[in-house]
Amino acid sequence: MTADRMVLMNPGPVNTDSAVRAALAGPDACHREAEFSELQRRVRRKVVQICGAGDSHASVVLTGSGTAALEAAITSVPPADAGLLVIDNGHYGRRLLEIARCYGIRVRHLEFGWGVYADPAVVKRALQEDPWLTHTVVVHHETSTGMLNDVRAIAGVTREQGRISIVDAISSLGAESLDIIDDDIDWVVGTANKCLEGMPGISFVCGAKAAFEDLEQNQARTYSLDLSRHYKAQEKNGFPAFTPSIPIFYAFDVALDLALAEGRAARGARYRRLAERLREGLGRLGLQVLIDPQHRSVVLTAVRLPASLAFEELHRGLKERGFVIYAAQEHLSGSYFRLSTMGHIDDGDIERFLASLESLLSTWELV
Ligand SMILES: *Cc1c(COP(=O)(O)O)cnc(C)c1O
Repeated sequence: MTADRMVLMNPGPVNTDSAVRAALAGPDACHREAEFSELQRRVRRKVVQICGAGDSHASVVLTGSGTAALEAAITSVPPADAGLLVIDNGHYGRRLLEIARCYGIRVRHLEFGWGVYADPAVVKRALQEDPWLTHTVVVHHETSTGMLNDVRAIAGVTREQGRISIVDAISSLGAESLDIIDDDIDWVVGTANKCLEGMPGISFVCGAKAAFEDLEQNQARTYSLDLSRHYKAQEKNGFPAFTPSIPIFYAFDVALDLALAEGRAARGARYRRLAERLREGLGRLGLQVLIDPQHRSVVLTAVRLPASLAFEELHRGLKERGFVIYAAQEHLSGSYFRLSTMGHIDDGDIERFLASLESLLSTWELV
């Protein structure tokens, strides 16, 4: 049996509102016409609002997945002589390091280990030890494990030490508490298709207008991901530098309206309710969650696989019942799986998921 609607428990792309899907079928349009310029202006403004800022800030919206926006920020923000402190406690922290290394950016790799809390005091000490470090980069929600890092504290020590922070908020923005101004963050990177519940294909970088202006002094490391180029095109000329994915823009515009109408706190509370319901149910089935309760996000739960069960078998059984679950990455892949509570899903979906999981486990005599 294949359900009409798959419940996506992979951490993005997520189930979307029908209004978001319908928006994809908007009119054919030229990106160098006033209609698109106006749409881009609206979307860029709403992204700034989602990040917690107003007229002092701007966003650059890119066609590309979240990694494209990360690559744009990491390659465009630090000048040639910069030093980047990469805070790493999982797969996505490691990706930040790989991007920086790809471009020969001088880095210090501050590795905590997967699922280990990134202690802001250790970050502070690293910045004090190494005066050549000029920037920090950190993942807010480490989607490989479900660990929520204290970006407010990390951005706080970064600013206190006179450095610049870049935050990968790709899987947190829109649901977890994050505010570019109140949290002293310099640059926020996000994407359309996770907690903002849009379609995949658009990502963005938000920062202060003055900071965007200053990027002009940097020698560009890339052509198509140069933030300064995109800022000038979008902010000054009002048009994109290159051809954007127009249908994804239509959908993102609607998704942003829904996100702003629901509000960050209410969306976070909705995800928390689903995550707690899920975790209670997993506990009843004797399944263990990777991260300690005080560091868990509302977005993702990494769960230990029962000893004799292969992920592929569990995945197949649940998919037949209408649920897509996600493998863990790298060294966790044989022993854990991941369940996201992002997107347009509800309590009924979680209850049906738990019932399906229970019936599968009992078929295999694992409960
Ligand atoms: C999903 C994710 C990314 C990468 O996003 P893509 O859209 O797949 O490029 C980066 N960082 C974090 C924390 C993520 O969850």
